[in-house]
Amino acid sequence: MKVTIKQAIEIIKSGGVVAMPTETVYGLAADAANLRAIQKTFKIKGRPQDNPLIVHLSSVDQLTMLAKDIPEDAFKLAEHFWPGPLTMVLKKKETVLDAVTAGLDTVAVRVPDHPIALELISQSGPLTAPSANLSGKPSPTKPEHITEDYGNKIPFLDGGSTKIGIESTVLDLSLKPYSILRPGSVSKEEISEVLTTDISIASDTDSSKKSPGTRYSHYKPKATVKWLENNDVIIQDNNNFYILHSDKFLPVDSANILHFQGDFNHLASVLYDLFRTADHSGYKTIWIEPISEVKNYSITEALINRISKAI
Ligand code: AMP
Ligand code: MG
Repeated sequence: MKVTIKQAIEIIKSGGVVAMPTETVYGLAADAANLRAIQKTFKIKGRPQDNPLIVHLSSVDQLTMLAKDIPEDAFKLAEHFWPGPLTMVLKKKETVLDAVTAGLDTVAVRVPDHPIALELISQSGPLTAPSANLSGKPSPTKPEHITEDYGNKIPFLDGGSTKIGIESTVLDLSLKPYSILRPGSVSKEEISEVLTTDISIASDTDSSKKSPGTRYSHYKPKATVKWLENNDVIIQDNNNFYILHSDKFLPVDSANILHFQGDFNHLASVLYDLFRTADHSGYKTIWIEPISEVKNYSITEALINRISKAI
């Protein structure tokens, strides 16, 4: 059910949840200070209790409401990347609910770059907002995806299609050396440039220890997702769907082929929608041309991460 911003503020204030657009994906917003609302969020998503939530702020000024021992680097990064798709993990204040952080002594925060989200947060205070999908499903990048998962159960603010299409970069600043727990459209190189220090990309084992959410299977369509191999041949039928970026695999003009011409930002923005529409069309396998060699887009690391987790 589509709601107005005024209705959304009322729902949040009375302890309910509302789906809101951000520049990454739609989030299921709830009052970060209301335990019942947080519990409701986990229940609605079917989200494992040990998977902490990101708290969304309307400005960097709210950082001190939630975090303590904040390093100067966090303010530098905020100045450079906020509002935007960079989530920072910082030492949490005692007042932050354990349910939000899944009992961790850190809290993840970001300021989203979307006028509707910013308006809602500035009127209702910091909001938790995990992706507004059933746990395990691809994140919603359009209001239709929310109704696909929930029917009319979840009120939503309509912001059309989200711009980036995959979730934020999660950077742990609570320990040195800083590490990326989840890649996103803000790359390691862009962060290193602002900080002039080296940051690492956490290994899968490290990520799943420090960022429980990364441990779970995610982003999965019903169809099987596979990387295309060099000697695979394109089959033009109703069972196989192909996502290509080069001219290595021929033919390129068929209803079951999406050729995104090497525009990786475009692929990111439509990836989850493609997963869902391929399912609607009844495709059994989604083949994706490997993108590991392409380095000139900051989003490729995140794309490889999400596609690998969908396999
Ligand atoms: P989602 O909101 O569904 O995009 O998932 C949030 C992501 O942020 C998950 O991968 C969580 O593990 C991660 N996250 C949230 N809070 C923390 C935290 N305090 N420490 C580390 N990772 C976190
Ligand atoms: Mg999610």
